[in-house]
Amino acid sequence: YQRIVLASRPRGEPQPDNFRLESAQLPELGDGQVLIRNHYLSLDPYMRGRMSEAKSYAATQVIGETMIGGTAGEVLASKHPKFAVGDMAVGMLGWAEMGVADGATLRKVDTTHIPLSAFLGVAGMPGMTAWYGLNHIMKPKAGDTILVSAASGAVGSAVGQLAKQQGCRAVGIAGGPDKCAYVVNELGFDACIDYKAGNLVEDLAAATPDGIDAIFENVGGAGFDAALPRMNAFGRVALCGMIAGYNGDDVSIRNMRHMLTSRLTIRGFIVSEHLELWPQGLGELGALVASGKLKYRETVAPDLASAPDAFIGLLKGRNFGKQLVKLI
Ligand code: NDP
Repeated sequence: YQRIVLASRPRGEPQPDNFRLESAQLPELGDGQVLIRNHYLSLDPYMRGRMSEAKSYAATQVIGETMIGGTAGEVLASKHPKFAVGDMAVGMLGWAEMGVADGATLRKVDTTHIPLSAFLGVAGMPGMTAWYGLNHIMKPKAGDTILVSAASGAVGSAVGQLAKQQGCRAVGIAGGPDKCAYVVNELGFDACIDYKAGNLVEDLAAATPDGIDAIFENVGGAGFDAALPRMNAFGRVALCGMIAGYNGDDVSIRNMRHMLTSRLTIRGFIVSEHLELWPQGLGELGALVASGKLKYRETVAPDLASAPDAFIGLLKGRNFGKQLVKLI
């Protein structure tokens, strides 16, 4: 089978030669294990962190091994009582056409009402990230104004829609007029600021006349610097990601004094550390997706070989919605 391994560690932006496409042999299927053929790979910003050696909340990706990553696919053979041939399952098989995983690391999914790919996005880890940050950190009340950066993306698009359902005013930040139009017209946000248009501070003030009660921060940098001074007293920030800094750019917080003057709470979180909440969150998200009340958009790269380029693009905003790779 074919797979992509980490060939070398990037400095700054990842380059195609940091990755290598190669053939590998499947291991023998052991007791409790399942052979999966991947239909979709998930490409996610956190993978940039794993590629580097810097200290983080998770282990560094080993050079020469399959790139880490979430996958959705079909059971081809099983020595685990909970999985049968033909079942669909989400797992962490990485950037590969197929692989063997312990059944305990797989989640069986029902694709009757939800397409398989959505279990890697809005009905999976990114959706769960939105759900956790909104409900457990931002805790908005009806009428609150919430701000979401990377608003057209996998996580951000869900945050704003869920906040709207709770009666909030949802304001997004996204890169470019097409993404902003989508965020307002399709996702139903009240406003979206194009940070590339050059009037970030003024546009943000105009879109948040009553200030901001809670922020879902995905990006860091200029957008976050513009947002902190607009926070209302006792505002909350769910610090989810700082993608503007993943390739090495400085994302230090400039307007720190507003944390004091507005008595803010800023809390970082890692969604995979709250697994006990996943059944509840995924249940709610799945029901909303199945009934058409939670919209999402995907950018799909066509084959395994295109994964590195798609990943490099994700770190520059070339994706529009959840970035996937389709293998079948
Ligand atoms: P998205 O689908 O939002 O894709 C990434 C988006 O980030 C791009 O489309 C782009 O949007 C924006 N972006 C990329 N590079 C830059 C840059 N240099 N400066 C500003 N914006 C940039 O990804 P996800 O929804 O999967 O992830 C969103 C965030 O959530 C990331 O920071 C990620 O690390 C974080 N995350 C955190 C988790 C946790 O447990 N804490 C779990 C999952 C995700 P645009 O064109 O609008 O700029």
